[in-house]
Amino acid sequence: MKGRVVACKEYGKPFEIDEYEVPTPEPGAVLLRMTQAGICGSDLHVWRGDQVNVQLPPGGRVMGHEGTGVVEALGEGVSTDSLSQPIKEGDRIVYAAVFPCYHCHLCLRGDTNWCVNRGYAPAGVWPYFTGTYSDFLYLPPRHPLFLVPGELSDDILGPVNCAMGTVTTGLMRAGLREGQNVVIQGAGGLGIHATAMAKDMGADRVIILDRLTNRLELAEEFGADHTINIEEFNTAETRVQRVWELTDGRGADVVMELVGRAELLAEGIDMLGNGGTFVEIGDIVAGREVSIDPSKLLRGKNIVGSLMYRPDLLPTLLNFLVKNRNKLPFDKLISHKFPLAEVNEAFPQAEWSQRQTEITRAVLVP
Ligand SMILES: [Zn+2]
Ligand SMILES: [Zn+2]
Repeated sequence: MKGRVVACKEYGKPFEIDEYEVPTPEPGAVLLRMTQAGICGSDLHVWRGDQVNVQLPPGGRVMGHEGTGVVEALGEGVSTDSLSQPIKEGDRIVYAAVFPCYHCHLCLRGDTNWCVNRGYAPAGVWPYFTGTYSDFLYLPPRHPLFLVPGELSDDILGPVNCAMGTVTTGLMRAGLREGQNVVIQGAGGLGIHATAMAKDMGADRVIILDRLTNRLELAEEFGADHTINIEEFNTAETRVQRVWELTDGRGADVVMELVGRAELLAEGIDMLGNGGTFVEIGDIVAGREVSIDPSKLLRGKNIVGSLMYRPDLLPTLLNFLVKNRNKLPFDKLISHKFPLAEVNEAFPQAEWSQRQTEITRAVLVP
């Protein structure tokens, strides 16, 4: 049996779709049949060529990291998920989208998302199915995986192992507490999930910024108390002033950068009240710089970076979805579906940089 794998062979060129023999899982491994894979902001960075300073592996880079699938085959010795629930062929699975080495000092202390040996999956190297823009995904032995609760529909599972895990970890690293004010820069997939999770964690006011009206409206449906359209508030000064007004002169306790623009760090620090925390998540492209005035940090303002999540967060996220599935319109998050074969049509449509798009989250379906 063969399956398709999407790879980026050269920046700025269309992705290529290659076919490989589907591997039989080795003992301890699991093969998933992908059911959907999200187009995340970081995938758009690769497609756009923003990461031109990051060298591609020799045969290209396998694309896609977030997504969900069903068990296609279990390797010898695998009969349960990571929480000892029995699993069998056809069961729906959410797996950790971080593939660390489990060997370095950071992995050993549990920070697998900061693994020093993590790299981009090379195309054409066994077991081939190492990204989610594929018919299958190979989970190596001991890789964390979780059975999906029956109450959850397929369509709300795609973003769990990227957007939702990432923003939840960011809020936890900021130490968000009951009654605090949260500002979210960017109402894409990350921002919408951050809104819902911040409210669930006890935030009093969530204020979200974006230029796309449809995204801001969706954020309101997910619990945002205030929206700031940056087309209207089109300078940093007016946006900062607006945040201080909307927080009754207290400023934000947490600001999350989910867009990937360095200058939002400087802007976000000015939105924070003393003691508040700026969480950097969106700036995944190296080489962008911003200058800040360090004296602004003296009264307890913090800057923390956050990337992905620890795998033990995933069951918590699934429980969050079960708890909120009838309260929040998760079914609206995925606005567009494209067949995997149309990956090169899907990306230009999902592009939001410097333009309007009606897409909130697009997924590829094998
Ligand atoms: Zn992602
Ligand atoms: Zn490691």
